[in-house]
Formats: sequence, C-alpha cells, structure tokens
Amino acid sequence: MSLLEVERINALYGDSHVLFDLSIHVNEKEVVALLGRNGAGKTTTLRTIMGVLSPRSGEIRLDGKPISGLPPSAIARVGVQLVPEERAIFGGLTVEENLRLAALTAPKPWPLDRVYEVFPRLKERRTSRGRTLSGGEQQMLSIGRALIRDPRIILMDEPFEGLAPLIVRDLVNVSRALAAEGRTMIVVEQNVAAALSFADRVYGLNNGHVVYEGSAKELQAEPERMASFIGVG
Ligand code: ATP
Repeated sequence: MSLLEVERINALYGDSHVLFDLSIHVNEKEVVALLGRNGAGKTTTLRTIMGVLSPRSGEIRLDGKPISGLPPSAIARVGVQLVPEERAIFGGLTVEENLRLAALTAPKPWPLDRVYEVFPRLKERRTSRGRTLSGGEQQMLSIGRALIRDPRIILMDEPFEGLAPLIVRDLVNVSRALAAEGRTMIVVEQNVAAALSFADRVYGLNNGHVVYEGSAKELQAEPERMASFIGVG
C-alpha cells in the first residue's frame, strides 16, 4: 500500500470539469513530480488532496484511510501539508512567530532549531516580519512552516517560481537533502530540470488527465516524451 493513494478523482470548479478520473500514488519516502503545461490541473490536484476542493467522485486515502471529504484542517492533522504557490506566511508576524504558530496545532512538531538547521537564513531573520523578507526567504519560511509540523507528506506548488537562480539553487539543494532523508513529497514545478534533480518518479498531466508515468531517470533519458506533454525539451 502506498502512503497516499488518489483513485479516479473527478474535480470541478462550478460546471467546469478540471480533473478526469485522475489516479496517482506516492510511496513512503518517495518524491513525485507533477509536470504539465499551465492549466493541466497540477494545482487543482494538490488542492483536492489538501481538501481545499472536494472531489466530485473518487477517493483519496492516506495510509489506507479515506481523507477525501474532510476539511483541510483535518487533513493537515493527519499529516498532509500544502506549501502553496502564493506562500502561506503571515506578513505582520516575525519569522519565529510564523513558525511557532504553524507548530502550535501539530501533534509532534519539530523544535525551532531543527528548522533553522535546514534554513540558517531564517535564524538570521528570526525577528524580521514576514512582509520584509525577500521572495526566497518567504519561500523558505513557507516550507519551514510545513516542515516544523513534521508531516507525513508535503505538497509543494511551484516552490522555485519567480526566484533568482542562486536562490533556486539553494532551495533545490535543500529539497535534495529533504528527499535524501526520506521526506515524502509531491512537487509541482515548471522548472523541470530542478524537479527531476530530486524527484524519484514523475506524472505528466494534460487537460486533467494523467498522460505519463515513469521514473525521473526514464524521463531524463527521453526528453522527447517530456516535450510531448510539457512543451519543453
Ligand atoms: P498552472 O501552472 O497555471 O497553475 P495547473 O496545471 O496548476 O496550471 P490548475 O491551476 O490546476 O492548472 O488549473 C486547471 C484548470 O482549472 C485550468 O483550466 C484553470 O483555468 C481552471 N481553474 C483553476 N482554478 C480555478 C478556479 N478557482 N475557478 C475556475 N476554474 C479554475
């Protein structure tokens, strides 16, 4: 049994059908990348797993137990964390307050220092308010807020989007380290090379359908397959 099983889900925004019988799974300690063009349904898949959107049909299970239909707060309590594209931080609170708040409702949160070991920059900035952070620091804080809750699985939506190359390099290194220590993750990324550098397995999405599944190594070896559904080589 996989840690996360998404089975034939259909998701709609109003009358607009966005995910069609979509099935994916993620094994424990595995990093899965979701790739596809804009509008393919990647963000919607993460939002549906997190319970922000309820699937119209199909089932989502964590450790074999159904979670679809639960509110996001309940899904967070059983160990799912979404790091959304728009960065979930409180601008008026300091870095440390942001982290403490995220830890508050977690069953077994990490000590603050463990987050600071992952992101030393956050320690330097611990008394700064969220809104004064650079884009890269905000993304570190957003990921730090997920990590401090020690979740079973982290859903990352375009973590490298809009960041300078040097910051992307740092965040890719952190992602690699998290993958190496056995964190289970789903990552949605437009930066395919960055995602493939730490993903184990890949799903390609197109128009709300899974159109490709393979190991990251296989996909790296056949870039023409990648081009067929992502539009880049
Ligand atoms: P992107 O990289 O642009 O975020 P994506 O693969 O994550 O792409 P989604 O954001 O999941 O794609 O969008 C899938 C489809 O659902 C698109 O056609 C989009 O226009 C539509 N959609 C997304 N959010 C909403 C919404 N809140 N209301 C209505 N339609 C939406």
